[in-house]
Amino acid sequence: MATLFTRIIQREIPADIVYEDEHVVAFRDINPQAPVHIVIATREETPGLAQLPDQGDHRAILNAARLIAEQQGLKGGYRLVINQGEDGGQTVPHLHAHLLGGRAIGWPPG
Ligand code: 5GP
Repeated sequence: MATLFTRIIQREIPADIVYEDEHVVAFRDINPQAPVHIVIATREETPGLAQLPDQGDHRAILNAARLIAEQQGLKGGYRLVINQGEDGGQTVPHLHAHLLGGRAIGWPPG
């Protein structure tokens, strides 16, 4: 059974896709927590950061975040977050990062 994000990546579920390359697909979060809130999901169905393989080009997430931040004009800064597991607030078991910007992002998180 494909994950929700795989179904978005395969265009079965509509989403506002803002970036894609051979490793990741990025789209606007359906429930944005900042003026810019973009989910960067790996094309591979790795369940989460805890299952990240030793090998593989997962640096692609960081590259995509930098490129999307430039594309979105986040000159003042931004935050990149990966939620892992229940305590981390993860709700979709498909490795992804959140790119948040367009306002000052508070610290510490809730
Ligand atoms: P997590 O909580 O797993 O770190 O992040 C999952 C994110 O996916 C949440 O921020 C949630 O709003 C977003 N999300 C859930 N369902 C959909 C959907 O159908 N479309 C989009 N664009 N985002 C979704």
